[in-house]
Amino acid sequence: MKHRPRKRFGQNFLHDQQVIDRIIASIAPQPGELILEIGPGQAALTNPLVASGADLHVLEIDRDLVARLQHQFQHTGNITVHACDALQVDFSDISGNRPFRLIGNLPYNISTPLIFHLLGWHDLIIDMHFMLQKEVVDRMASGPGSKAYGRLSVMTQFRCNITPLFDVPPESFTPAPRVSSSIVRLQPLKARPFDVGSDKNLERVVAAAFSQRRKTLRNSLRNLLSTEQLLAAGIDPGQRAEQLSLSQFATLARALPYDAD
Ligand code: SAM
Repeated sequence: MKHRPRKRFGQNFLHDQQVIDRIIASIAPQPGELILEIGPGQAALTNPLVASGADLHVLEIDRDLVARLQHQFQHTGNITVHACDALQVDFSDISGNRPFRLIGNLPYNISTPLIFHLLGWHDLIIDMHFMLQKEVVDRMASGPGSKAYGRLSVMTQFRCNITPLFDVPPESFTPAPRVSSSIVRLQPLKARPFDVGSDKNLERVVAAAFSQRRKTLRNSLRNLLSTEQLLAAGIDPGQRAEQLSLSQFATLARALPYDAD
């Protein structure tokens, strides 16, 4: 029987073979390497990943699809199917504490919380290739002065190298989503690019600065830092959040009283 796509699990299945080939070529999976795929669905990416000889673990939340995958791959040695919610899972358990690569055509509603959940295991993650909403990839990759530059850009750029790879149109999926998608490569950084003192303070200052992005820092940060403190840190209180570089956000985080992570 045909599987009916479930909206609540963000099921838009890839059917465009050219796009599938291009994604796999970008990942270049190697025999024996440990790869985790989130949301294998109907195996559009899983089939070529299995064929590469990689040691593949797939995590799927939909029990009907899990049953299908288990049946389809019952005689295949290099794939393990996990029935689980990727937002709840402990990735050191799944990987057995071995370094791994991550792949996912992610449900759009959980993509950003999932990426930040995953970064809890940044020491083990070699790289991640995700299909995301194009707008999300644009926001992750943009820099100061651009409209798309915001909290997601700063928080992602403090944690990862970001390489947007290519766009995928809605027609490549069944059912077609309403928005365009993009493939992005994220490589977790071993250390923050600038000293932030405490990650909590970075989060706090970035959230406050962008919560009212049209306001000057003097106003948007008034509950955290005084005009005098901004000046003492070498930051112009008349600037807006969207004009600040990563190193300036790091300076602001260090100016706050220390808050242990
Ligand atoms: N990889 C397939 C493809 O490219 O055609 C399916 C992609 S579909 C956009 C997203 C997949 O993620 C679905 O199979 C869905 O059931 C699964 N999924 C949704 N939420 C999940 C979660 N929290 N944990 C694991 N899988 C999830």
